[in-house]
Amino acid sequence: YYNLNDKYLFNNFIVGKSNEFAHAASEAVANAPGKVYNPLFIYGGVGLGKTHLMHAIGNSVLKNNSNKKVYYCSSEQFTNDLINSLKNDKMMEFRSKYRKLDLLLIDDIQFIAGKDSTQEEFFHTFNELHQAGKQIVLSSDRPPKEIDNVEKRLVSRFEWGLIADIQQPDYETRVAILSKKAEMENIKISKEVLEFIAETINSNIRELEGNLNRIVAKASILKKEINIDLVKDVFYDVVKRNNKVVNKDKIIKVVSEYYEISIEDMISSKRKKDIAKSRQVAMYLLRDILSESFSAIGGIFGGKDHTTVMHSVSKIEKDMKENKYFEKDIMSLKEKILNNSN
Ligand code: ADP
Ligand code: MG
Repeated sequence: YYNLNDKYLFNNFIVGKSNEFAHAASEAVANAPGKVYNPLFIYGGVGLGKTHLMHAIGNSVLKNNSNKKVYYCSSEQFTNDLINSLKNDKMMEFRSKYRKLDLLLIDDIQFIAGKDSTQEEFFHTFNELHQAGKQIVLSSDRPPKEIDNVEKRLVSRFEWGLIADIQQPDYETRVAILSKKAEMENIKISKEVLEFIAETINSNIRELEGNLNRIVAKASILKKEINIDLVKDVFYDVVKRNNKVVNKDKIIKVVSEYYEISIEDMISSKRKKDIAKSRQVAMYLLRDILSESFSAIGGIFGGKDHTTVMHSVSKIEKDMKENKYFEKDIMSLKEKILNNSN
């Protein structure tokens, strides 16, 4: 029923200038659901903590009263649920599920734009909950007025309660976030290095986290301490990745040369052991370096199913865990791909 992630809590949400208003509003709502601001509408760019705050509200409400009916979903999940219920003649269940809640959290509400039947159904859900004094919390990447292709009556309801925005974090908040994360995860890293990261990564919090994770991973694989040079190395990789200097052809070519397997064979469905291995490695690296989707990778390899790709990638991950030499091999292949490309 809840669909909540118990890792997203108020006590691990770091507050700074950029998010203090949304944070305070969220806590107020969590402490008195349905009583203060209804709906609460949180908006801001990607990776700034909207989803984190929504789960934190849900978790906090449940902690205060485990009998509360709480449900979190994205607006796409709401839409899918609606479509399935319509198809399977289950609208009674759908309505009783959503309209009997004490707290409904819908993430990324901007995606109901242009979906008329979702908007119609959500309109009634909203009214029912609101009239019964039940709390609604919505998030979006932009303020209500800027969401195009949504009915006026919905936009105006989005504005009934409180609208709270989250901004990009300022330098102090970025340093605070990094220090707290390092402290929570027992990562040995000096203040100087943290400040260097916070200066360099000035976008969103997901980027900060992602880079910190990359740095920690690199240090642990190379069995080195985290210092400025290592951090610079990681950033250099990221810059290359972002500049798309590394592309899929490059990755396949390097793997093909390394294993001395022709690209044609790698793309084929041949099951010979060494061919299959080089194919799995290439799939793994496409995923690891470019974050390609499993189905996109399947497409590159002659239309293989995404589950096949998933298996290949986890096979390589498992082999790397179990065999240090193989892990070193893959790391050096990766270095080759990232360094040879210009
Ligand atoms: P959004 O939904 O706005 O795109 P998320 O809530 O998914 O962003 O946040 C991205 C990542 O950054 C998550 O791992 C989240 O825990 C983390 N994060 C965001 N804001 C904070 C914060 N103020 N304190 C701690 N972690 C945060
Ligand atoms: Mg989100």
